[in-house]
Amino acid sequence: MSSHTKPRVIVLGLGDTGILITTRLSRNFDVLGVSTKPALLSGQELGTRLTNPAQWRASYFIALSRFKKLAKVPTIHGRAIEVDRSSRTVTIEHVDATSSIESYDFLVIATGASNGFWRHDRSQTQAEIDQELDDHARMIEAASTIAIVGGGATGVSVADNLALSTNKTIHLFYGKETLLSDYHPKVRAWVSRVLARDGVHLHPHHRVELPNGMTPTALTTEPLRFSSGQEPFRADLVLWATGITRPHSGFLPRDILDDHGFVIVDEHLLVSGQRNIFAVGDVAASDPLRSSARNWGWKVVIANINALSQGKPSHKRFKATPYRWGSILGLQDRGLTVFQPNGRRFRFPASLATVLLFRGFTERYLYGGIKKQ
Ligand SMILES: Cc1cc2nc3c(=O)[nH]c(=O)nc-3n(C[C@H](O)[C@H](O)[C@H](O)COP(=O)(O)OP(=O)(O)OC[C@H]3O[C@@H](n4cnc5c(N)ncnc54)[C@H](O)[C@@H]3O)c2cc1C
Repeated sequence: MSSHTKPRVIVLGLGDTGILITTRLSRNFDVLGVSTKPALLSGQELGTRLTNPAQWRASYFIALSRFKKLAKVPTIHGRAIEVDRSSRTVTIEHVDATSSIESYDFLVIATGASNGFWRHDRSQTQAEIDQELDDHARMIEAASTIAIVGGGATGVSVADNLALSTNKTIHLFYGKETLLSDYHPKVRAWVSRVLARDGVHLHPHHRVELPNGMTPTALTTEPLRFSSGQEPFRADLVLWATGITRPHSGFLPRDILDDHGFVIVDEHLLVSGQRNIFAVGDVAASDPLRSSARNWGWKVVIANINALSQGKPSHKRFKATPYRWGSILGLQDRGLTVFQPNGRRFRFPASLATVLLFRGFTERYLYGGIKKQ
């Protein structure tokens, strides 16, 4: 055990899952949070982030200092660059270019994954993040025709929100017959109808060639070319949402990563072969959809760290759902539609969603209170 009186837990990555774990463990453990961002910068709801940044910021970009339950938790604004399992230490490169070595009894890896220009693992200050959000919103604002590549939740959400809230022409390109292949067939059918009704031009069976074989990590302006044989397509701006993800795991030993770089975990979310290292969220190879962020993986990690610290075996198992669930289109004027794994959907009116879900469930229950700015 480290020199601290309570067992020490280091949580790497304070995003959607890392924050939940840090706030819950801080009472019984000596917790240290480490993150490249000084704020929760959620990967959720890219559509609203681009079209209504002010509304998006209120729920999805929240300074760590505003979380009431993080008030007494030390955090380091920086990047984990090495984990040494034999000495149970993590080397951290701080945002001010200094570095430190921190020891742990338990380690939680929650560093997420990049899936486009809006999520990455670079260290950034609050001002830099603000600037980046503004720059992206301005580029969208200046374009008349926007092409979106990718028929997953992100592409669909951006396409619909842009079509609804702007007078721009929106084209959505995807390689398959249907959108949202990870969702229940009923969800796919319903969302396709909504997109068409909202004025999105749908282009199924269009396989877009990736420039230099890679998904661009920025908004681009070059014409789209198709390996499926259609004529090239020119838009003022192209937004890439191909769903190809890059896990933030380069600082971890190779033997705990799968062929794609995701962290191999067992059903308790314990890292392969380890007794005191957990991985959760988008970086963890927990199931084919890597769904432990939204399927309560953080609760599994907390229960198992509590058990192990009391000398009991880890007991709580992670259960994945066969289909993705949750909100796809985000909060819109017509409300917030939430889909269940069985394809059912329910809609909260916008006013109720703001009060019940964001203020009540997310801010009070999940985060334990957010201070006003
Ligand atoms: C309660 C809940 C509900 C959800 N509902 C939905 C939904 O309705 N619809 C939907 O689409 N999705 C939903 N999601 C899931 C969401 O889309 C993503 O799965 C989620 O954002 C991934 O969280 P994460 O913590 O794994 O990664 P992230 O939120 O990306 O956090 C990772 C953090 O780690 C930092 N980091 C990276 N590398 C390092 C390093 N080396 N050192 C230190 N820090 C590092 C990153 O900068 C980032 O801040 C939900 C998630 C939760 C928790």
